[in-house]
Amino acid sequence: MRKFQVTVLGCGSAVPTSWHNPSSQMVQYDNRQFLVDCGEGTQMQMIKYKVKYAKLDHIFITHLHGDHFFGLIGLMNTLHLMRREKTLHLFAPLDLHEIIRTQLRLTNTRLYYPLDFHALEDYRNDELLYENKHLSVRSFPLKHSVPVWGFLFRENPLHPNIDKAFVKKYKPSIEQIKTIKEGADFVSPEGKILPNDQITIPSPQPRSFAYCSDTAYLESTAEYVKGVDLLYHESTFDNSREELAGITLHSTAAEAARVALKAGAKKLLLGHYSARFKKDAQILQKEAREIFPESYLSDEGETYDI
Ligand SMILES: [Zn+2]
Repeated sequence: MRKFQVTVLGCGSAVPTSWHNPSSQMVQYDNRQFLVDCGEGTQMQMIKYKVKYAKLDHIFITHLHGDHFFGLIGLMNTLHLMRREKTLHLFAPLDLHEIIRTQLRLTNTRLYYPLDFHALEDYRNDELLYENKHLSVRSFPLKHSVPVWGFLFRENPLHPNIDKAFVKKYKPSIEQIKTIKEGADFVSPEGKILPNDQITIPSPQPRSFAYCSDTAYLESTAEYVKGVDLLYHESTFDNSREELAGITLHSTAAEAARVALKAGAKKLLLGHYSARFKKDAQILQKEAREIFPESYLSDEGETYDI
C-alpha cells in the first residue's frame, strides 16, 4: 500500500500563542508532498519536525486570512535561495497572485524556479484541481467571511488483484489480465466462462483525506467528504461559544463532529483552536466525542496515517 499520511505543522488560529502555530499541514502520498495552508512560521515548523520538502511541488491555500498564508513568501524565498529549479504549483485565491508578485517585485526577487499559479475562483462548486495516476485533489465549498475552499485528497480506485490459482491454471495473456482487471469475465479456450468475481480479489477501498478550514457549520460539507477516512475540520470554539462561532463563521468541536458523523468519516481531527484554550483544548475533544467518538485533537509534529 502506498504511503498516505498527514503531518500537522500548525493547528492554532489567528491570535498567536507560544504553544501552537497557525494553520498548515503536509500531506504525503507515495513520494509526493502537498502543503495545505502555510501560516506564519510554517517553514520553521518543517525544520523543527524534520518535514523535508524535496518532493513538494503543490501548495494549496484555503483562503486569504493571514493565519493561513503569511508563511508562504518565506517558504517560497527559501526554495529560491536553495536554487530550486522545478515548477512550484500554487492553488490559491486569485488575489494571492498579486500579493506575491508585489512582495517579489518590491524585494527585487526574481524566483529561480517557475511559479505556476492556479487561481481558485468558483467557491460555490466543487472542482478537480489536480490529478496524477494514483491520486486526485478536489476543492469543495465551505462558508467563511471571505471565499474559502476545502480540499479533498482521494486515491483513484485501485484495480482488483487476480487470483493466483486461476493464473496458474489458465495462463491468461497480458491483454486478458488487463481486461479482467477492468472487470471482464474470462473465457477459456474450451469456451468455459469464468465470472470476474470468481477470478479476482477485490482491491482495498481507495483512501481519502479532507481538509476543512475555516468554516461555519455547513450542511453540505458532509456530502462532499462522504466516507472520508480522515477528516480535518476546524473547531475553533467549544459549546459555550456557539454563538460566537456563528458570528465569526467558525465551528465548534460539536459542529465538526456532526459533519464527521453525517459524512460517515472514519476519524475526525480537530484544530484551529482559539487562543483562549491555552494549552489544554481537551474540552473540544470531549464535546466532539459525545457526538462522534473517533474525534481527536490534532497537535503540531504529529503524523496521521490514512
Ligand atoms: Zn479565516
